[in-house]
Amino acid sequence: MKSVLMDQQILAGIGNIFSDEILFQARINPAERINNLAPSQLKRLFLEMRAVLKTAIVRGAGSEQLVERMPRGSFLPERKKGGHCPRCRSLLKVFKVGGRTACCCPQCQGC
Ligand SMILES: [Zn+2]
Repeated sequence: MKSVLMDQQILAGIGNIFSDEILFQARINPAERINNLAPSQLKRLFLEMRAVLKTAIVRGAGSEQLVERMPRGSFLPERKKGGHCPRCRSLLKVFKVGGRTACCCPQCQGC
């Protein structure tokens, strides 16, 4: 999933950190294949993508303070080794997918 979100020919501008935020909010495993997603998951993904990008634009995407400005429950401030899930407080997992570093919650996203 992560590679698809970051494919600039499909959708320009979703970088590494935002793809993790979107997949977290949609509760989708970054390593999942897009053809394995149920229609309800795809719908969820689309809605979360729109919501996350809207928030990012309003809060100043690209600015160095963006992470501090993200609303409560955001994934970005915890997106690091040793970070904890903003939803269930599980220890986050960091791994490589499609050559990029992905960060996700094993409990919420089954990664
Ligand atoms: Zn969680």
